[in-house]
Amino acid sequence: MEIAIFWIGMAIACSIVASNKARSGFGWFILGLLFNVIALIIVLVLPSRVDGANSPTPETHVKCPDCRELVLREARVCKHCGCKLVPQ
Ligand SMILES: [Zn+2]
Repeated sequence: MEIAIFWIGMAIACSIVASNKARSGFGWFILGLLFNVIALIIVLVLPSRVDGANSPTPETHVKCPDCRELVLREARVCKHCGCKLVPQ
């Protein structure tokens, strides 16, 4: 039982750290459930998203034509799928 509490606590910690870094709290909660301490360590060492806004805007981001994820407008390679992009 203690292990279950510890496990969920780790997942909650992941989601708190993630939302403090303007990342997906729910997504990291799931990752925390899957990978526990490993996910917590990863989210702790990840840099905060520092490009100003909390959420991507059409001024700063475009949708990748391949995977439809938002990527920075200046990006040449999609960070999600690795496909080449034309900077706009
Ligand atoms: Zn992509």
